[in-house]
Amino acid sequence: MPLTEEEKKKRKSESDKRYREKNKEKINKQKQEYSKKNKEREKERCKLWYENNKERVLKKAIEYYETNKEKIRTNTKEYYENNKEKIGKNRKEYRKQNLEQIKQTQKEYREKNKDKIKQKQKEYYNEYTKEYQQTPEGKKQFRIARWKYQKIVPPCTWDEFHDEWEKATNCADCDVVMTVGERYNTPTTKCPDHDHSITDGSPNFRGFVCHGCNIRRGK
Ligand SMILES: [Zn+2]
Repeated sequence: MPLTEEEKKKRKSESDKRYREKNKEKINKQKQEYSKKNKEREKERCKLWYENNKERVLKKAIEYYETNKEKIRTNTKEYYENNKEKIGKNRKEYRKQNLEQIKQTQKEYREKNKDKIKQKQKEYYNEYTKEYQQTPEGKKQFRIARWKYQKIVPPCTWDEFHDEWEKATNCADCDVVMTVGERYNTPTTKCPDHDHSITDGSPNFRGFVCHGCNIRRGK
């Protein structure tokens, strides 16, 4: 008597069960491999999707950031405050372990963006430094820096010395009314004269004279 459909099904199910029990390990391994393979495929799929929707994703992210700016900032700040030590330590550790890589990346960045960096520096200089140099304080600091460069050692603080320089009107030698040169010296430019033979760091200032007399006095 031929088997009924029902019976056929039952037999198959039983045989399947036996097969599964007998080959448990093999099946498990296959499952694992499939899942692993699938995972990679899923990853690939995600990556592809991201590549195709990059602009949209970025736009969304920016939108999210813009609308939640305050919240994000507060959260970030709070998180940082609460984990300051840990973050600092991690950063330090990361830097220590990847120093060569970091240096290399920075070098490459600098080389790749040389012109851009130069332009930025120029802009910065124009915006801040030049403006600052036009202020009285900026001019004063510029003068002091130049005097230091000339190895002048005042008998007082640099602030006091600058005050004295401002007060001096007539040349100590020829009594000419001295002028203030911003960039270039003229014969009447006011100059602090100093003894070039004193080089041990002790005061070597001799007096305010005009540029002409300063040259005549020589070394
Ligand atoms: Zn003079």
